[in-house]
Amino acid sequence: MKIAFIGLGNMGGGMAANLVKAGHEVRAFDLSDEARGTAQGNGCVVFADAKEAVQDVEAVVTMLPNGGIVKSVLEGDVFGHAPAGAIVLDCSTIDVATTRALSEAASAQGYAMVDAPVSGGIAAANGGTLTFMVGGTAEAFARAEPILSAMGKAVIHAGDAGAGEAAKLCNNLILAATMIATCEGFKLAEKLGLDSQVFYDISSKATGQSWSMTSYCPVPGVGPQSPSDNEYKGGFATALMLKDLKLAMEAAETAGTSTPLGQHSKDLYEAFAAEHGALDFSAIIKSL
Ligand code: NAD
Repeated sequence: MKIAFIGLGNMGGGMAANLVKAGHEVRAFDLSDEARGTAQGNGCVVFADAKEAVQDVEAVVTMLPNGGIVKSVLEGDVFGHAPAGAIVLDCSTIDVATTRALSEAASAQGYAMVDAPVSGGIAAANGGTLTFMVGGTAEAFARAEPILSAMGKAVIHAGDAGAGEAAKLCNNLILAATMIATCEGFKLAEKLGLDSQVFYDISSKATGQSWSMTSYCPVPGVGPQSPSDNEYKGGFATALMLKDLKLAMEAAETAGTSTPLGQHSKDLYEAFAAEHGALDFSAIIKSL
């Protein structure tokens, strides 16, 4: 299949390479010369302009930094330039309102669209093991699923347009709050004289268990290998967690729902990101 891929950064670079490996003709564009060069080395056909990249394709994948950029790329370079009937798959993490508005605009101009944000970081993007949460009609999901499967290990239909972004933001709200609670539990246990490994052995089999504890323990040397064992380098950057929490709080305000722990987690990550935005989000244990 001919697929255009726009946004070949930390995540998009590996995702585009996996589409090539799956046998697709990938027509790639990024503003960065370096990203385009790497994509070319990975077998993509690169273009100096997004409008050219989307000519003659059946699908357009975007993996861009934020909603404003996704809107300007789709409205400026994709709608009216990609062939009518093509499907747009936006894999970026953006706000629910923008993705719903763009989905309506796509449909008005004869395109199908899904929002398909991902869970999993750069290693999962490179390894083709991302999880995609997909919003869109059943028909659009059926068309998107084989394309997304070439880049991930799980592709889940979350509901109508915007449902993928909603799932992603709600999931990361839970993740942020459980990570902070896990860090607090380990710190308090230490101050009370408990060995961290012993506390892990107990809590990981008791009701304090969570992914933040048993798959991503913020204490070095405890639990499986995680960024805490590598001085909190790599993994999921604090700055990206903060971005997702801000989007979640915007969504909560729009929906008129109360999220006090989400708000407090956002405030704590905002303070920590001011100096440590590049560290993995489990490094927030350092602030306690
Ligand atoms: P990135 O900054 O590494 O990549 C974004 C790319 O988009 C850059 O190469 C940039 O040059 C390009 N770009 C910006 N404006 C453009 C435009 N107008 N036209 C074409 N290209 C343009 O970001 P990333 O880490 O790859 O993240 C991409 C998306 O994935 C974000 O929405 C992020 O929230 C989400 N995400 C990231 C991770 C992660 O671990 N990095 C995990 C899950 C989700």
